[in-house]
Amino acid sequence: MIRSILVLGGGSAGLLAALTLKRKIPALSVEVVYSSRIGVIGVGEGTVPYVPFHLHGYLGLDEHEVFAAIQPVIKLGVRFAWGKRPHFDYTFTGRQHSWRWPDLPRNNGFYGFEDPSAMDLSSALMDENKALPRRPDGLPDLPPPGSNFAWHIENKLFVGWLETACRREGVRFTDADLAGVEPGPEGIGSIRLDDGSVREADFYIDSSGFASELLGKALAEPFEDFSGALFCDRAVAGGWDRTSEPVLPYTLSETMDSGWCWRIDHPDRIHRGYVFSSAHASDEQAIADYRKVAPKASDPRIVRFRSGHYRRSWIGNVAAVGNAAGFVEPLEATALMVICLQCRWIADGLIDSLQQPDETLRDLYNRLNGSIWSQIRDFLALHYRFNDRLDTPFWQRCRQEIPLHELEPFVAFYRGNGPSAINAGNLPQGSPFGTEGLLAILAGLAVPHAKTYPPPAAETARWKRHCEDHRSIARAGMNMPEVQKLLSMPGTWKKIRAR
Ligand SMILES: Cc1cc2nc3c(=O)[nH]c(=O)nc-3n(C[C@H](O)[C@H](O)[C@H](O)COP(=O)(O)OP(=O)(O)OC[C@H]3O[C@@H](n4cnc5c(N)ncnc54)[C@H](O)[C@@H]3O)c2cc1C
Repeated sequence: MIRSILVLGGGSAGLLAALTLKRKIPALSVEVVYSSRIGVIGVGEGTVPYVPFHLHGYLGLDEHEVFAAIQPVIKLGVRFAWGKRPHFDYTFTGRQHSWRWPDLPRNNGFYGFEDPSAMDLSSALMDENKALPRRPDGLPDLPPPGSNFAWHIENKLFVGWLETACRREGVRFTDADLAGVEPGPEGIGSIRLDDGSVREADFYIDSSGFASELLGKALAEPFEDFSGALFCDRAVAGGWDRTSEPVLPYTLSETMDSGWCWRIDHPDRIHRGYVFSSAHASDEQAIADYRKVAPKASDPRIVRFRSGHYRRSWIGNVAAVGNAAGFVEPLEATALMVICLQCRWIADGLIDSLQQPDETLRDLYNRLNGSIWSQIRDFLALHYRFNDRLDTPFWQRCRQEIPLHELEPFVAFYRGNGPSAINAGNLPQGSPFGTEGLLAILAGLAVPHAKTYPPPAAETARWKRHCEDHRSIARAGMNMPEVQKLLSMPGTWKKIRAR
């Protein structure tokens, strides 16, 4: 029976694991061992709606407290300067291409193929740099966590708050480097730290980041490499303090010669990062290209990564969470979502198995991990394969070589039938992106299809009215500084959630 857990690593993965486990199973003894000498990776700032849901919907943490501590900027979606359009948006409403208005005979994708702007409310808000609609009572119309919005968060602020929350739940912390691992009948018997102490636990969580000290090194689990589908393996990351720039309530993703560049806004800082392929650009070239789009960035640094995952993430008495289990490049900012899901799978698995996990639970965890990593890989592959904005050697290679794996039937149906919502039948099981996500990318990149639909005038008029309604709500909406001010005031959260 698992009564004690040792978490190796105090980055967002280790702390989310400790917090989730201690909150869900308070009787557990949980200790986090981390190395202040090694530190945390310090990137990981975009999220998807599942992350706020995990903290508030699943763990039941107070929204006001979390907002005040981590100062997130609302993320309505991603604005892609990819493909031939000036840009297109992939939002979190689920009401873009696959949505159908009751007064129109087809789903939105057919009406908005030529001009997808203001197709949903979030896209209209993004055009106006507004974070949220305004309610009649003057408060921001903030949907429940898990729907429509995610966050931009500063990794270090997030990690700092997670540590405070963990300590409050009774998690213990030790600052030391791992010095050795002793095998045991279940996998790992104990670990030795560089302060000379030895730790034994019933269960170990490896959250040691890319080092993967327990799963990758001590247990030597093989790594499944995704470099055949995703060519980027490095990033230039940096930022600058905000001057007069407006706060963008979305991630900006721009096509670059050998990859793409993010812009992520925080209240007082703007982060830029160029994710690139080292086979197509040297570090010096990438930094030079980065400086062109981020001239104010003072501190660019190179971060190396490899996309892929360890074949199994849970072996015996060791389960890995976060970068120690796997990582797929950050184009859709999915890593924190995967971490939250991993924490939830482990916590729910331990609760339901009466803290006595068996091989079937381990197998399930490993299958769930394998499936989510490959679904993310294929979704990202779709972005790269159809981006025809630039004709550099990197992008030519992406268009020629990137495989779509399980998404082939979805893409074939799209090519033959357009952005039809019934393509849902071709979705891989348990897709985290759904028909909406796939259509947002295919139609957003204007991938040609055989069924262009010139709607009759009456349908066009109704469609335009819906888009105009979004624009008018968006114009009256609130920008992020206004939202932040209101959400920082005592009593606002209670009023917002009272409805
Ligand atoms: C370029 C880039 C951009 C990214 N952008 C995003 C994004 O927008 N959104 C997103 O969700 N994710 C993003 N990520 C992923 C992000 O890094 C992870 O989601 C997240 O930060 C989890 O990191 P971690 O806790 O697994 O690892 P880390 O933050 O590296 O933490 C590892 C921990 O283990 C400890 N440790 C390591 N070795 C030892 C040792 N020998 N002894 C003791 N302690 C040890 C370290 O001290 C640290 O505390 C990005 C990643 C990269 C590379």
